[in-house]
Amino acid sequence: MTQETLFTKIINGDIPADIVYEDEQCICIKDIAPQAPLHVLVIPRKPIPKLADATLEDKALLGHIMLAVGDIARELGVDDAFRVVINNGEKAGQTVFHLHLHILAKHTFKEGSLGV
Ligand code: AMP
Repeated sequence: MTQETLFTKIINGDIPADIVYEDEQCICIKDIAPQAPLHVLVIPRKPIPKLADATLEDKALLGHIMLAVGDIARELGVDDAFRVVINNGEKAGQTVFHLHLHILAKHTFKEGSLGV
């Protein structure tokens, strides 16, 4: 049975979010409580609870997400300087147990990019 997470609900359109990018394997949304001028989350559609739960089966998906991060950063105009954070586990600060990568940058969103 597929797990229903907060992010699954956003992916399914049951909870609204500011979507800045989406493709067949992942979506990218603005973080609701930004920790930097630019703070977005890249979320695989597949609800892997945390990075350490990913398996060899997820190898291509993880590669896809990392490439999507570069594309998104370029589109948002922050590819010269950004940070990627993954919190793995409650003790590391993870609060939503559906794998996601934080992209943090000092720039604000480039107007017109990715529909933002
Ligand atoms: P983490 O603490 O690594 O699990 O990150 C979860 C992130 O999800 C936090 O930065 C939250 O601010 C963010 N978040 C929680 N609810 C929402 C939401 N409805 N829309 C967008 N971001 C959210």
